[in-house]
Amino acid sequence: MYQLKPVGVVRNKIKHPDDVRTLKHSESVVEVYEDYTSGLHLTESYDYLDILFNFHLSQITSAAGDWMVTTRSGEKKGVFASRSPLRPNLIGVTTVKVIERNGNRLKVTGLDAVDGTPVLDIKACDTSFFEDLEMEKYHATVMKNNPRVTIRKQIMAGDTGKLLIEAGKMHGHFCPGLAMGVMATTHGMQVLDAESDGLEDLLAIVETNNCLADGVQLVTGCSFGNNSLIFYDVGKTAVTLTKRDGKGYRIISRPDSQAYIRESFPEFDNYYEEVVGRKNRDPEVVAAYRRSGVERSFGTLKLDFDRLFDTMWVDIDVPDYAPSHEDEICSRCGESVMASRVIKTEGKAECLPCSGNGFLVLDGHGIHT
Ligand SMILES: [Zn+2]
Ligand SMILES: [Zn+2]
Repeated sequence: MYQLKPVGVVRNKIKHPDDVRTLKHSESVVEVYEDYTSGLHLTESYDYLDILFNFHLSQITSAAGDWMVTTRSGEKKGVFASRSPLRPNLIGVTTVKVIERNGNRLKVTGLDAVDGTPVLDIKACDTSFFEDLEMEKYHATVMKNNPRVTIRKQIMAGDTGKLLIEAGKMHGHFCPGLAMGVMATTHGMQVLDAESDGLEDLLAIVETNNCLADGVQLVTGCSFGNNSLIFYDVGKTAVTLTKRDGKGYRIISRPDSQAYIRESFPEFDNYYEEVVGRKNRDPEVVAAYRRSGVERSFGTLKLDFDRLFDTMWVDIDVPDYAPSHEDEICSRCGESVMASRVIKTEGKAECLPCSGNGFLVLDGHGIHT
């Protein structure tokens, strides 16, 4: 195997390995041998460097097959889980802070190696991993305060491409309907200067349960679960936003919007006819069908808004904030039920299924019994 040659030596006041702890805060000089001085060029411009060195005072004492070490605190662990100087190749590595460089002398802090330690290598320290972690931590904190902070920024910037990707996570595929939901509500949110905080102050009314509705939910934050999505079962591809002031901004797809999208992306219809119509399962054709579908969805975002939609201000019958009420227990099935859905028969509470009274269902056919 390649023989390691020291490139320099550590100079400091610490003569004994037991004292290296105190070195974490004191200064050391890495004296680089003349042959390697040119290798130090610009090391002084880095905040941190990695120093590789040889534990020249250590002997490899571990019996073959036992690479456990006992730490200062008495904990037993594998040598590779430790920074112990007793290790197979007696190589130490420490990240140090650079103070200055004078010729072949590099002044640093944080180097836990005794005076006279042979230095094997010096490297620029790659801190990007930790910076990314910091960003992630920061992002998580911000998001916990306001989970919609990114979406809010994207709405204000009109970045419908990014919003469509987010909406796709919920919707499961990309399609012009979803794209239209994103476009319509991004525009609507800008016009109203609205933001949803999950407290029902902003309401979205959709007039049919189709792909558009998922774009509406993502962009407005008005959803089925937070009671700010209202459903008019009238079968129109339209959405109205209101801030509960009785005024609504309604956006409806124009009757010729589908034709406009189709003629703008003719490729998709051909593949659709092949794959869905003629059941062509040639992998290349199927792949082209999918690709052209995605292109058409994202392409829809770039089409002329006024050819896709009509907009208007409308008067809105604003519903009250969702009531919060105690649950009751069904006397028959024993399951807990929202009080507003309980039927009282001879003083006894029953849920709708148990009472035999029937209930409403919302599915692909709209609302029905
Ligand atoms: Zn869809
Ligand atoms: Zn029941």
